[in-house]
Amino acid sequence: METLARLVHAGTLLIVNAVLASLSCAIFLALRWSLRHSGRTTGLVLWAASQAFFAGGFCVLTLPAFHVDFSGLTLLGNLLIDLGTVASFTAVWTYFSRPRRFWRVIVIATAIAMVETVLVMLGGEDLRVMVTVGGSLKAILTFATAFMLWQCPDADQRVPARVAAGFHVFWGSALLIRVAWWLVHPAAESMHDVTSSFGLLARLVLTWAITPCLLWMMSRRFDAELRRLAHEDALTGVANRRAMWAAAERSLAHAASTRSRCGVLIVDVDHFKGINDRFGHPGGDQVLVALAGVLRVAVTPPDLVARIGGEEFMVLMRDTDPAAVARMAEGLCRAVEINPFAVDGITLHCTVSIGHHVAEPGETWNDAVARADRALYIAKLRGRNRAEVADELNGRSAAGLKERPEADRSPPLTQDNR
Ligand code: GH3
Ligand code: MG
Ligand code: MG
Repeated sequence: METLARLVHAGTLLIVNAVLASLSCAIFLALRWSLRHSGRTTGLVLWAASQAFFAGGFCVLTLPAFHVDFSGLTLLGNLLIDLGTVASFTAVWTYFSRPRRFWRVIVIATAIAMVETVLVMLGGEDLRVMVTVGGSLKAILTFATAFMLWQCPDADQRVPARVAAGFHVFWGSALLIRVAWWLVHPAAESMHDVTSSFGLLARLVLTWAITPCLLWMMSRRFDAELRRLAHEDALTGVANRRAMWAAAERSLAHAASTRSRCGVLIVDVDHFKGINDRFGHPGGDQVLVALAGVLRVAVTPPDLVARIGGEEFMVLMRDTDPAAVARMAEGLCRAVEINPFAVDGITLHCTVSIGHHVAEPGETWNDAVARADRALYIAKLRGRNRAEVADELNGRSAAGLKERPEADRSPPLTQDNR
């Protein structure tokens, strides 16, 4: 400690820390401003506030060098730094949607800060008290922040969050070493802190590392969100058309190399216009969301379900055969038929028609889809609420069915009056 104190001037470190914290604060504020319309700024204001408190605390501690001094100056500077640590913890806590169990940390930190204030008010600005009590407070908050970052629930942000956690552990450990130094040096002069260069150097490393880490986390979050928006249907949350086509083309290429086969099912809601007419577009949307839920339960990985248009869904089955695809199609029809859909407090039942096909070796995805679509057309002509397979026989019979459709098996809408 003594060597470090001789090597690095504490005053210089205070100024560098203040400048770095101010810059971090400015970066977070600029980011907050540029994201003002996106509504994705949770934690940014608190991070900016945390850096502002740190900068303020370090600035206050440099004031005696400019011949500005008043009673309580050191306490004020240290409390501002404590507040910075509280704000930093709260920012991470807010960013992770406030996990409940971390409430206790805030309560403990507030209690310790009050003890520090009372002790200093009673006994004067004793550095031993301020470093040990204030240091313990900051260490608890810093380790709690590290723990929260380490447990980052989002896989996309976990790497930067854990790097940030590592730097917090580093600073927390430095704080504890400082506290320990004062505890094992009872004879040290309490008006001169030889550990401050060490503490300030450690803090410098944290401020230097944490800002890029947090920006890295946010960019990973935005990136994941963009990828999700590009591949997910906004209404139902299942895959969208683009994701389905990309997955299907990859699967067909893989199937060609492994001599396996892929199946496609096109699922179309029967008389969906009737649902929209009766319950309005929002009511129709509720049915689509619930229907996507039914499909999601029935279609499990490696198979994929997507919404490819208004009330049309598609299922991709990998490494499959015609019998399994037919079973899946029949199962989906029955699952939808018996599922009660609740719209505006009314329970209704609806049905789907399905056209399915297993891609021949060498067949493109677009051709396979076109054949499944023809089968769907036949399912509609043959009365709805049924599944049809795409084969040459169906292709021929479709022409006849155009003139002579069977009775519609699916009434426009059935309502449960139970
Ligand atoms: P069928 O398929 O049995 O022949 O009859 P249908 O009534 O389902 O026929 P059609 O495919 O012509 O109608 C689909 C309707 O779906 C038309 C359109 O207004 C509606 N639609 C399309 N996209 C959405 C959507 O995102 N939400 C809602 N609520 N309705 C939509
Ligand atoms: Mg349709
Ligand atoms: Mg339809």
